[in-house]
This record gives sequence, C-alpha cells and structure tokens, in this order.
Amino acid sequence: MLSRKTALAIARREFPNGPESLAKRLGAKVQLRPLGGCDGFCVVKGDRAAIFLNEAPNQPTGKLTSRQRFTLAHELGHIILGVPSVFGETLSDMLSSDDEDEKRVNALAAELLLPHSVVEWYVIELPVVAAVLKRLAKNACVSEVVAALRVANLAKELKLENASVVHFDGSRVKWQWSRTLSMSDKTARCLLKAAREAPHGVFRHDQGDGTTVVASTIENDRFDSATLFVQVLPALLVSNITREERRKALEAILLPDDPKTRGKIQGLVGAYSQRTHRFSSLDEAELDFWKANRRKLSDTLLDSDDGREYVLLRLEQWY
Ligand SMILES: [Zn+2]
Repeated sequence: MLSRKTALAIARREFPNGPESLAKRLGAKVQLRPLGGCDGFCVVKGDRAAIFLNEAPNQPTGKLTSRQRFTLAHELGHIILGVPSVFGETLSDMLSSDDEDEKRVNALAAELLLPHSVVEWYVIELPVVAAVLKRLAKNACVSEVVAALRVANLAKELKLENASVVHFDGSRVKWQWSRTLSMSDKTARCLLKAAREAPHGVFRHDQGDGTTVVASTIENDRFDSATLFVQVLPALLVSNITREERRKALEAILLPDDPKTRGKIQGLVGAYSQRTHRFSSLDEAELDFWKANRRKLSDTLLDSDDGREYVLLRLEQWY
C-alpha cells in the first residue's frame, strides 16, 4: 500500500487525474455497478483492493462523473489510511459524518482531488468569489460544492480568517460546513439574499473590527439549490472589485444583448484557450489574439480600450 505522502505527491503530479492514477498505482480495480442508494465502497484483501462505484443512469463509458470521482477519492482515502469502508454510504453521509475516521478520510479525498498547490494557483486574489470556485471545480472535474468545501478548509492557508459553505435546498438550509465559523440559519438566509441582490453576486459587509464578511453564491437552477460561500477576512485584504467582478461588469457593457452574437463573441475568446499553450507569456498571447481576431471583432465593442481589458482578463485565466 502507499503512504499518505506518496499518494499526495502522485495526486499533485497527475492533477486533475490524481484519484484515477492512484487507483491504477494501487492495482485497485474500479467497477461501476448499480448500487441502489449507496454511492460506493471498497473491499481490501491483503495487497489487493476493489472499489465499487454507483453507476449513473445513461453513463457514457470511460469517464467518471464528478460525484463518482469524489466517491473514488473517498474510497482511496479508506484504503490509504487503513480505515475500513462502510457499506451503504451515500455522498451526503460521507460529507456530513461526525466520525473522526470519516473526517480524516474526507480530508485526504479532498487533497487528492484538489491539491493545495492547485487551489493556490486558482485563488490568486481575495475575496474568493463564486466564479473562481466554479472555474476551480471545472478544471479539477469535481462538483462546485466540493471545490467550495476545499477552499473553506484551506481558509487559513489562503489568508482568510474564516470560511463556511452553506448548502440550500430552495430557501431551506440543508447543511453548513466550516472548521470554525458557524452561523444561524437565519443569518445564512440573510447572506444568501444579500449576495443574490449584490452587484455581480458579491456581497461585502465591513464589520467595523478590521474584518469584512464577503458572501457569494453558486446557483444550481436545475435542482433549485444554491451553495453560499461565506468568508471573513482582514478588511485590508478585501479588494473593492475582483477580476471576476470587473470581467462581469465589462461583459455587461461590451457584449450585445442578442444571445446569439453574445455567445459567438464569448465562444471566440473562449476557443482561444486552445492556442495559449504556444505562448509562454500573457503579452505574447495577447498580441497573437488580436492578430488572429482583429478583423472578426472590428465591428464590435471589443475593439476598444475596455474591450482589450476584457480580452486580457479572459486570457489571464490560462496563465
Ligand atoms: Zn467512508
């Protein structure tokens, strides 16, 4: 079996495929089966291990869903730490368990999916806003909730005084998670409302004691649920406007109302990510972007000072 330290080194090196690579390295067979209400479990016999994950309906072959990846990382945590797996565990049991062993397993699972250095790479400025959590989740192939939980757990390392994740089902608080910050359901609901009404979805409240509370939300309209990320940080570290907020503000001014044209322009900038690997610096990529696209964008508002700032903010995501 592998030590925790070696497992973490592999996860860092193989990101975002840490758990899949570790399963291979351990010789653990990963099998998808319909498991009813259970999300997954593992069986260990001597040096051999098998991990069973609940099969998703209409699952395409060869790729695990973000839910299965979390379960895989969780089961790997059981194997690496030598904590027997619990048959019948669901994802919500795993996330909300008070058992100390389960908490250790979850902490390791989070580190395998989202290594510390990767999180620091994405969280380049404070406060941490929902758009950054979403991007981190997308690139790490994990759910947005898992990304938010990981950032909350790394609060101190990221220079936040405190952070909490609150999950809402409709307007009801389903659960909240934090190492040290707890709030009443009423406060959580007020913060959710404030974040939804705040410009660009980021609510700031100066507490008058040198700290600021910042709240932002990740909405999941499909399931009528929302994840609220609350952080407390030194007021001095709170920027008035983050890059993400500036980007959204510029999008509101520069992109046309017509969804088709809007999508086309955003797609054109987004597609450029495929080319960025050719350039080692942001400056070179910016020059190349305009060389390749100036003609296409010349009759749009993007060909302006604000437009160039917007393109630069988008390109920055890839550097
Ligand atoms: Zn477990």
